[in-house]
Amino acid sequence: MTGDTPDPLPQDHPLRTWANQLGLLAERGYRAANRYHQSARSTPWALSMSGLGGCVRQAAFRLAGTEPSDAELSLDQDARQALHGTWVHAGLLPHYVQQLASAHFEVPLRLDVFTPDGTVTIHGSADVLTADHGGGIVDVKTVGAHQVPERIAKGASWAHRWQVRGYAAAARQQGFPVTWISWLYIDRDTGHAEAHIEPFTDQDEQSVHARIAWLVSLAAEPDETPSLRGPGLDWACDSCAWLRRCWGPDATPGDRSVIAYGDDENVTLAAKEYVRLRDQKSALEDEMEFWSAAVGRPAKGQYGDLTITYSKDGSQVDPAAAAKLLNEMGVSVPMRPVAGRRYVRRAERR
Ligand code: SF4
Repeated sequence: MTGDTPDPLPQDHPLRTWANQLGLLAERGYRAANRYHQSARSTPWALSMSGLGGCVRQAAFRLAGTEPSDAELSLDQDARQALHGTWVHAGLLPHYVQQLASAHFEVPLRLDVFTPDGTVTIHGSADVLTADHGGGIVDVKTVGAHQVPERIAKGASWAHRWQVRGYAAAARQQGFPVTWISWLYIDRDTGHAEAHIEPFTDQDEQSVHARIAWLVSLAAEPDETPSLRGPGLDWACDSCAWLRRCWGPDATPGDRSVIAYGDDENVTLAAKEYVRLRDQKSALEDEMEFWSAAVGRPAKGQYGDLTITYSKDGSQVDPAAAAKLLNEMGVSVPMRPVAGRRYVRRAERR
């Protein structure tokens, strides 16, 4: 027996307001879940395997024991995608390892690295450590639908490669044979999974020790090490616990104004570089527009060594229609101040 679909609630029904609040509460739920997850780490500011291939300056801060200037940024972000990944790990790994002949999941590992400045220990937890096929490590990465084929074609990013090489070096040091490392890319929407695999060699193991020794050498002067591009330009900066230490007391997540040079000489240099790249981009965009039109919208599938897929059809706000509707309802359209547009043009020769 099926019931009739209830009529939609009137616009001014109190339950509609409550529905909006329920949606907003999810944001608070994610933030609380992230804080809970982060607080479970006994040393949240130490360098771990996952930081080996990330921002070099952040790694140096962690190794130097530099007090975070923005601890709450890291603790209180809502980090939805990362949390979804964590939850997929928790649900899948116990059952995944049962499919392998001999495997363990969430294996805590430590790597001691001997450097001229003393011994440094880096901790981490490998998703899956197995004795199959000579011994290996599987790292589970949950990604968007379009990223699975891309990652299989291009392989792991260097950040992910350093992370898993770190686990492998640590496992070897603890006496587990590791001859290969793998990344299991899982489509967050469908659960579809594909693995990328690489051998793990003695040379790779040595490269992990060398990288950590290099990071330790940078930790002598962490503020002098290369930075990422800054808030609003690199996601890692927007959630970094050292944001204001790096970018000054006015830095806030997403606000790229703090990276502006300010002095005329450097503004001239930056404007010149910007115009040079813009010219290149515009020529490339013309080319891409043509080739994109030539691709069209064929059936999804494999074309040579490329795949063509489509994201789901959806809808987005139509600002003009929304403004018209509000005007008809006698509601003024909400406005926010915007800075005047900046134009960088070649100056007229005099
Ligand atoms: S704010 Fe950005 S550049 Fe500075 S340490 Fe953090 S991630 Fe690196």
